[in-house]
Amino acid sequence: MTRHGSAPQDAPPARETQLERDALRIAIGVLAGSPPPEEALARVAAAALAGTGADLAVVVERGVEGILRVRTAAGAEAIMPGTRVAALPGGALERAMSGRVAHAATVPGQADLMEAAVPVVVDGRNAGALVVSGARLPDGTEDRLRAFGQLLSMVLVRVEDRRRLSTLASTDALTGLGNRRHFDERFHVAVEQAQRHHHPLSLALLDVDHFKRINDEHGHQRGDDALAEVARRLAATCRIGESVARIGGEEFAWILPLTSGDGAEAAARRARAAVREAPFASVGRLTVSIGISELSLANDASDLVRRADRALYRAKAAGRDRIVRDGGGEPVAR
Ligand code: GH3
Ligand code: MG
Ligand code: MG
Repeated sequence: MTRHGSAPQDAPPARETQLERDALRIAIGVLAGSPPPEEALARVAAAALAGTGADLAVVVERGVEGILRVRTAAGAEAIMPGTRVAALPGGALERAMSGRVAHAATVPGQADLMEAAVPVVVDGRNAGALVVSGARLPDGTEDRLRAFGQLLSMVLVRVEDRRRLSTLASTDALTGLGNRRHFDERFHVAVEQAQRHHHPLSLALLDVDHFKRINDEHGHQRGDDALAEVARRLAATCRIGESVARIGGEEFAWILPLTSGDGAEAAARRARAAVREAPFASVGRLTVSIGISELSLANDASDLVRRADRALYRAKAAGRDRIVRDGGGEPVAR
């Protein structure tokens, strides 16, 4: 594509430099105030628009499988966030997405429209681009864009950090399953949805039997290995839409949306079999006790947990390695 020189004689007139400074000041002020990321991105896009005198500023992000989507846009023909866009061969977006600056130039095949773009780099990866377009973009537009591109990358790094932190905060390090916090969040949403739509929902609480003894016999490290393997077996038993979390040392909670007590009982039988079927490399054979409760018998989320816990207690008291349903009589599997 055509490259425009940015030699000193092409420097933008003072008026535009002032505009650019004002826009940057606004953008930096926005970031310093730590607004929610979406708002910060929108404000930086708006500031880039003002700072370059373009008609349209678009922040494009590369998502899963390399799909390019509009993250935010500002200007006369602002595009809806989430809109899929294609990088035209030889166009500014294509250039910026491959990590290079696209100098102000006419859009291929559109003599009356100009565009310029800069890459947005997050964690060393070309995560997106800032593209501006307008009837006339002065030489050096791309230089003014650079600072906005860096601001965008700062915002997106913050978004990534938050995402990573929130994943870390809800993941159990030993097993990779969700932790208690993850369970609490998921479970409340699941209960709310089930109640709103009058759908069934069940909860199974699983506790490894005599695990203190296992630790005493084989050592804590082997105990840890066994817990990680229990987690893998439970996760493999889990179906789409269900979720299993490690809510305590050797305790797991399994949320079963759209599942009645009968369905949960069948699921629990599969889980119990998955644990007891084959010996564990680190500690030999293990068994679990399981307590099940269903929403139709419970008042709310905490009542559902209480009932499953009570059922689990009964499974333990009855000799372990079995499944007990809340509201049921005898253990259902032995
Ligand atoms: P029960 O059949 O009644 O559940 O017996 P238990 O020994 O499993 O139950 P208890 O609650 O008395 O003890 C749980 C044990 O689990 C105590 C602790 O040593 C072990 N444990 C808890 N968390 C971990 C862990 O992260 N790693 C290992 N290796 N052991 C753990
Ligand atoms: Mg326990
Ligand atoms: Mg136990």
